[in-house]
Amino acid sequence: MVARRALNVALLEIHHRDAGSRARTGVLHLAHGDVRTPAFVPLATKGTVKGLEPREVAALGYDMVLGNTFHLFLAPGHERVAEQGGLHEFMRWSSPIITDSGGFQVFSMGHGTVADEIKGRRADPGGPQERAGAILAIEEEGVRFRSYIDGGERFLAPETSMEVQAALGSDIALAFDECTPFHVSRDYTEASTERTHRWLERCVRWHADHRPPGQVLYSISQGGVYEDLRRASTRVIAGSAAPGVAIGGSLGADKPQMYEVVGWATDELEQVAPAKPRHLLGIGDIDDLVRGVELGIDTFDCAMPTRLGRHGMAIVPDPERRWRVDLTKGRWKDAQEPILDGCPCPACSQGFTRAYLHYLFSIRELTALRLVTLHNLAYIARLMADLRAAIATGTLAQLAAEIRAGAAPGVVAPVAPVA
Ligand SMILES: [Zn+2]
Repeated sequence: MVARRALNVALLEIHHRDAGSRARTGVLHLAHGDVRTPAFVPLATKGTVKGLEPREVAALGYDMVLGNTFHLFLAPGHERVAEQGGLHEFMRWSSPIITDSGGFQVFSMGHGTVADEIKGRRADPGGPQERAGAILAIEEEGVRFRSYIDGGERFLAPETSMEVQAALGSDIALAFDECTPFHVSRDYTEASTERTHRWLERCVRWHADHRPPGQVLYSISQGGVYEDLRRASTRVIAGSAAPGVAIGGSLGADKPQMYEVVGWATDELEQVAPAKPRHLLGIGDIDDLVRGVELGIDTFDCAMPTRLGRHGMAIVPDPERRWRVDLTKGRWKDAQEPILDGCPCPACSQGFTRAYLHYLFSIRELTALRLVTLHNLAYIARLMADLRAAIATGTLAQLAAEIRAGAAPGVVAPVAPVA
């Protein structure tokens, strides 16, 4: 592994700030290369962006992917991945990787079917996925749970999570946290958030003692939807030795509340740790990405574009229909248009019609999953590139208004820079 980040270069180099919001654009310098921010990070949950090759993901314009600590811990096991040279080598992805801590998945089992509820969403047509198993006990030391693979009892603690992420060799490791869902009480949220802070200190200590080469640690803000708890948690975790921060846990019951909660967190970060890079966990709808960028988020990850793609849902510039079209619906069986006119993605640029894709989905052809996944990821990549360019040219407000009104990224007339 080549540690490309020189010690005298900031982890996040901020190039431009938007005058009308907290948005900023720059470069995140990591051991396996640079990430242009703000950036969306596709999920490579089990060591692959489902259906795609790494070179395809890179060609779409992605600088980083997210690997899943929980799933890779259970199978094939972090020791096996380490023996294969680490996750980059194993999956043949040479650019940066961020790994989550496993907290989200392990607590999703224990708190019921909350994976979507945590983010204030109903289940997508594709979900819920990869659920099962059960939490046996949440203790100060860590969490005991039953593996969804073999039913065996397993244990994850802050130190285990750090050890697994070090073995995977990710560029960014996330601290182990309890991800509280929306329905738990304020008292539970408060006690859990305090335990997450104690777990963060254990993660920081483990990381300082073992110094995984080329890896930086991000802390995670909890506190649910309670303003005082969320702001206090953000201050605590931003003040830790971890050089980056993430925003996790319950962000609310709906989008306005989610934006409010994220806004509290980035407001605190502006005051106490303006230079630290910020990751927003599990958020990726088109309008959420635009608002998240305005709120000052640097990186996002979400299952949405890839999971939707596998279930026949293509992203389109249609705010009234949540920016998606369901290609499995019979109304497309004779449609001669591509998913999106003018879209440069591999699916649209080759002229595959909605009728063809509808047909492929009806017979469960793998090609359909691949093509719509490619389209969805290409769409998000263009959106993020447009947002970065707009911040740099002082035109973010204009672009954001156009996107919210139904403009497609990358295929609309470029906005004129401000003189
Ligand atoms: Zn396309």
